[in-house]
Amino acid sequence: MAITLEASFDLYIGGKEVPGSGGERRVLLDPATNEPLARVAVGSKDDAHAAMEVADRAFRESNWAADDGARRAKALWKLATLLEASTEAFARLETLNQGKPLREARGDIGYVVRTIEYFAGLADKVEGETIPVPGARFDYTVREPLGVTVHIAPWNYPLVLAMRSVAPALAAGNSVVLKPASLTPLTAVSLARLGKEAGIPDGIFNVVIGSGAEVGEALVEDPHCRSVTFTGSGEVGRKLAVVAASRLLPMTLELGGKGPVIVLPDADVDRAAKAIGYGIFGNAGQMCWAASRLLVHESVRAALVEKIRAIADRMKLGPGVQDGVEMGPLVSREQSDLVLGYVEDARSSGGQVVAGGTRPTDDALRAGNFVRPTILADVPPSSRAVREEIFGPVLCVASFGDTDEAVRLANDTSYGLLAAVWTRDLGSAHSVARRLESGMVMINESPMTFPQTPFAGMKSSGLGFEQGIRALEPFTRRKNVLVQLGGAKRSA
Ligand code: NAP
Repeated sequence: MAITLEASFDLYIGGKEVPGSGGERRVLLDPATNEPLARVAVGSKDDAHAAMEVADRAFRESNWAADDGARRAKALWKLATLLEASTEAFARLETLNQGKPLREARGDIGYVVRTIEYFAGLADKVEGETIPVPGARFDYTVREPLGVTVHIAPWNYPLVLAMRSVAPALAAGNSVVLKPASLTPLTAVSLARLGKEAGIPDGIFNVVIGSGAEVGEALVEDPHCRSVTFTGSGEVGRKLAVVAASRLLPMTLELGGKGPVIVLPDADVDRAAKAIGYGIFGNAGQMCWAASRLLVHESVRAALVEKIRAIADRMKLGPGVQDGVEMGPLVSREQSDLVLGYVEDARSSGGQVVAGGTRPTDDALRAGNFVRPTILADVPPSSRAVREEIFGPVLCVASFGDTDEAVRLANDTSYGLLAAVWTRDLGSAHSVARRLESGMVMINESPMTFPQTPFAGMKSSGLGFEQGIRALEPFTRRKNVLVQLGGAKRSA
């Protein structure tokens, strides 16, 4: 079958597109049809080490790190401008590759533009301090970039999650090696190419496509690696944390979630229904921060569930590039099988399927990785569907009798990424928010974030944070300089 995108997608190392050293190419499939979409180069361990070598040389030999930051700011700002001008092309690429509706992909690209702009604005504000010390001495600190930083990204928001850490690392003066997910590398390599046009020196922004087990591990193990940002599953994150710890490398981990949404009896049920629908069916539910566990007060349960069911049943499924489509396919056949496995499990353990729970039956969608928006109710709390991250369009509903019970159910998870509370009472909203073991809490809001607000998980959802005004700090180290001022006497 013909390949849809005949453009070449190679690794991007040292300012050049390079095929993998082994010459291997892989065919990516369009998740809406499972027909061939594009051929991509596949990198090896050798390519990973070569990229790290090149990045280290560029860090030491280019002026990227040495400048006062203004030049970095200009280059990053230009990158954002170039990307913004290509929004449609990048959004289309993301949709074809990952499956999400074009409307969502356009939002993603806009978010990346804003992220790069935000960190461009911080590039010349990496400041040290002066510290009073006794005697004729002067003490100051400088914040220096680390060197080569490694970024390993997942497939659900391919460019957003890659650039969420790449942009601050670049702004702080580091050189970067990014490994996108094998399923979704197209926008990352395309953006690195734009970096050259924006004036980022060769070797500062590199992308290596290749398997996590081979390329990802090689990048973290490489002696030039100075920090690791990993966004993905807890299983892989923990494994990499062991390697990073043995080398004393700083690490940021952005892992999974099982987000509770608490709806109190006085909530605006119409608004809550819409936000919950968005928070679990957006991006076909493939979101670490998905609002995947609805905990609703028994007095409003029937009304709320009915409204969400109506949203689920009405949603238009189809290839993301088609007009009017509200939910695309899941990223791969394997992912859709996994999701349906959770539904089966819930059903066989006594849960009730209120909506969806199957693949769509239309002929036009049969070949793709579609799963209907699904609502499960009264699934036993110990079942896999309630305890594990499903990473698909599946909402689990349970009810509670009082607020203490709601908070207890919400916190009864190993995860702690995003939680939400719906109520018209400000006092209840804030007191519940404080009691939730979650890195982010939404009050009367669907899952929402901005480049200027920290994105962080508690418990098994991660370590460290991304975004916000402090996001450059993990990409710098603090050096203290103490100066003896010789014979100079301190004035009284
Ligand atoms: P994944 O399997 O852990 O993969 C994530 C990335 O790690 C991919 O680039 C993958 O490469 C790479 N990788 C896999 N094995 C590796 C290894 N042994 N060493 C180094 N790198 C390795 O996760 P995923 O399935 O792509 O993404 C879904 C997970 O990500 C979910 O758990 C989700 O919650 C989490 N996530 C978290 C956040 C957050 O901000 N907290 C955001 C989005 C997603 P390959 O593609 O080649 O396997």
